Amino acid sequence: MTCLSCKSGEMTESTTTYTVTLKNCILIIKNVPCVKCTQCGDELFNTDILEKIDDIILMAEKMASEISIIDYTKVA
Ligand SMILES: [Zn+2]
Repeated sequence: MTCLSCKSGEMTESTTTYTVTLKNCILIIKNVPCVKCTQCGDELFNTDILEKIDDIILMAEKMASEISIIDYTKVA
């Protein structure tokens, strides 16, 4: 699979740290599976992963701590 952004890099399976700013907190999800471009570092997530991230975001919003750090491999 070729990268859609730079059109020259190769997308390879990897993991990344997903950071999102919510209304009342910052959420950091570690070890999220993704495909990453070897050339420009662009990252893509598949639909299953994005749905799981949505679940984790809902969970984090309920925790009401200012910064939440969640390990994806422990909640998936
Ligand atoms: Zn690329």
